[in-house]
Amino acid sequence: MPDVSALRQALLDWYDAGARVLPWRAPPGSAERTGPYRVWLSEVMLQQTTVAHAAPYFLRFTERWPTVNDLAAAEDADVMAAWAGLGYYARARNLLACARAVANEHGGVFPDTETGLLSLPGVGAYTAAAVAAIAFDQPANVVDGNVERVVSRLFAVETPLPAARPELRQLAGTLVTDARPGDWAQGLMDLGATVCRPKAPLCLLCPVAFACVGYRSGAPERFPLKAKKAERPHRQGIAYVLRDAGGRVAVVRRPDKGLLGGMAGLPTSEWRTAAPAFDPPVAADWREAGAVEHVFTHFALTLRVVEATGAGEFDWRPASEARAALPTVFKKALDRALA
Ligand code: SF4
Repeated sequence: MPDVSALRQALLDWYDAGARVLPWRAPPGSAERTGPYRVWLSEVMLQQTTVAHAAPYFLRFTERWPTVNDLAAAEDADVMAAWAGLGYYARARNLLACARAVANEHGGVFPDTETGLLSLPGVGAYTAAAVAAIAFDQPANVVDGNVERVVSRLFAVETPLPAARPELRQLAGTLVTDARPGDWAQGLMDLGATVCRPKAPLCLLCPVAFACVGYRSGAPERFPLKAKKAERPHRQGIAYVLRDAGGRVAVVRRPDKGLLGGMAGLPTSEWRTAAPAFDPPVAADWREAGAVEHVFTHFALTLRVVEATGAGEFDWRPASEARAALPTVFKKALDRALA
């Protein structure tokens, strides 16, 4: 268990000395806080993009609509147009709905508690906590993916995500106190963004390495652990690549129901766990052409490919036309037979 007070002091000192300068941010320790409108706007924008991408949007928005009342009075189309390039337009609509709720139901003043903020349209747990901490300096537990990562490393949490979420939130909460909660939240965000990075944490530059159990373990990037996806079942099949004397390829239409239903295909066995019996569509001199692998959403397939020259009742197509019509798994099989 890290020494919480030493850890907090080290992170706040680091933040005081080198906080990122951001257009929505008041300098660390400053008596002047960033108002809730600007914190809220920046947090909504940052939910879907990077700081570098969001910054010019933030500046344009706050120049054009300097207060929440100005934004509430804006035309929908103007806000949507200004949002273009930030993606997720539902968020822009929520942004307007929230601004109008603040303007019309709260007299243009943001609620100053997490609960009050949560009652606003489109404001979730993370945004409510971030605005409460940064704008109102309340000891809110601000936990997003970055904070989860930092905390999982600080405490070397062995429970994998997503089951670890409540534990990570609780551990993050043990680090929050009444002292400078806004700066604490922003310091943790800066640490996650610049030092405790997802793939290669810069532990040698980290102000809290002395208290980090993950660092002491020698492999901090192992955290947060992620639950292993269930392994895909494996199936096997045989694809029959039949060509006529002119080199055209026999194509069939797959049954309407089932995988690749109604699409063009090569004659094939069923795809089962056990190796299927060799049961070609026509008698011919079948030769082995190797095998191809293909991964579907619910299973992985090894398709043995055999090829022959022959005749029969098929949809005969020139090889390039057949190839263009086939779904990927059969393209692979055809390419293998023609290689
Ligand atoms: Fe992250 Fe490394 Fe710092 Fe631990 S020591 S918090 S793993 S950067």
